[in-house]
Amino acid sequence: MPVKTDWPKAIQPLLKKYKNTKHPLEYENIYQLIVMVVLSAQTTDDIVNKIAPELFRAFPNMNALSGATEETLYPFISKVRNFGNKAKWLIANAQEIRDDKYIPLTHDGLTRLNGIGSKSANVILREAGKPAEGVIVDLHVVRVAPRLGIAKGTDPKQIERQIKEILPPKSWDAGMAMSFLGRDICRPTPLCEICLMKPVCNYYNTVIKKVRKK
Ligand code: SF4
Repeated sequence: MPVKTDWPKAIQPLLKKYKNTKHPLEYENIYQLIVMVVLSAQTTDDIVNKIAPELFRAFPNMNALSGATEETLYPFISKVRNFGNKAKWLIANAQEIRDDKYIPLTHDGLTRLNGIGSKSANVILREAGKPAEGVIVDLHVVRVAPRLGIAKGTDPKQIERQIKEILPPKSWDAGMAMSFLGRDICRPTPLCEICLMKPVCNYYNTVIKKVRKK
């Protein structure tokens, strides 16, 4: 019978490796992060990082953004997907918040804003240094978690639920850590030989090792 993995313990090296790694969105404050997170849905972080400096020169805070119109935003954000709706959402959020000091830093408060779902709220809370209220499950985690064997399936909500059941809240940064692992090493073609998780990884121990034995 296969040995059951002690995930609260087995995940620690991964948490340690990526503990202080900043999100790839190159923001300078939480206002910028919130705007960039909204813009990054279905758009690469690279594109958002490229357009951000000019956008934030023109609209340096919530107050400035609250005075924007969709037409004044378009020239800055037209390279991102769905920019028409995103312009509407950004302006509505800014008009609701008005001042950077009123940015809501709770999962509930953030998910009430336009264009911010549960995953985005968890990313913002992490970067703001707030305790995790959920587990970040992005497309990288959907690939990495089942390979590791910490969760099954392809539905992000189900994967988040399984990880929350297995790990204590203090280890919920495992989502972002798996996301970083997915970007660096556990890519679509995984670089298992240099991966620190191979001693506990289900895919490595059941698939890769077998192939090597043949
Ligand atoms: S050992 Fe391979 S499959 Fe497992 S997490 Fe690492 S890179 Fe991914």
